[in-house]
Amino acid sequence: MAVVEATITEACKAAGRTREELTLVAVSKTYPASDVRLLASLGVRNVGENRDQEASAKARECADLGLTWHFIGQLQTNKVRSVVGYADVVHSVDRPRLVTALSHEAVRAGREITCLVQVALDDDPGRGGVVPAQVTTLADAVAEAGGIRLGGVMAVAPLGQEPGRAFARLREIAEAVRADHPEAVVISAGMSGDLAEAVANGATHLRVGTALLGRRKPFVR
Ligand SMILES: *Cc1c(COP(=O)(O)O)cnc(C)c1O
Repeated sequence: MAVVEATITEACKAAGRTREELTLVAVSKTYPASDVRLLASLGVRNVGENRDQEASAKARECADLGLTWHFIGQLQTNKVRSVVGYADVVHSVDRPRLVTALSHEAVRAGREITCLVQVALDDDPGRGGVVPAQVTTLADAVAEAGGIRLGGVMAVAPLGQEPGRAFARLREIAEAVRADHPEAVVISAGMSGDLAEAVANGATHLRVGTALLGRRKPFVR
């Protein structure tokens, strides 16, 4: 935790930004609820998960902690009802059907969910996200739907590309979205290996797993 904080602080200094501009989302996927508790005791308030089954159980076990839960994985519409039950922020909104489903379930549950449009910065459809040309249309749909609010954008840096370039592109896309939706200020970018590049390119949210909790065991999806 101290090492990650030092890395973020250093990246902020290099970019001429302040630590307060950044939200650390601790990605606890594959780690037990006891680790979420540990992170919370060290000051973590935002937790990220990418699979509903695992996330819903952990959120239940940690309900007393009052944490903010971020859903960061690819989301099937049949999981939306469950996710809306515990998640405050969904980072992975990448298609109109998902917007409709999130809106419907959020209204039904009487909740307001912050949604980020996930941008595909490469041509690998397996990793989720909408192509840049369709981001504004999807952002408009989120902004217009009930029960959900447009928070901004999210991306994962493409494999084998310089992350700084990818995040510079994401920042341009975020600015285009914000021109129409001033409230959409979130840029969720940066993971353990590329958080400095994300900070340098205007990220507001960092999703950090490995650097906090260690290497995850590989698992088959
Ligand atoms: C797992 C995951 C992260 C965290 O990655 P680390 O390299 O472990 O920090 C961030 N974002 C998404 C979408 C993830 O699935």
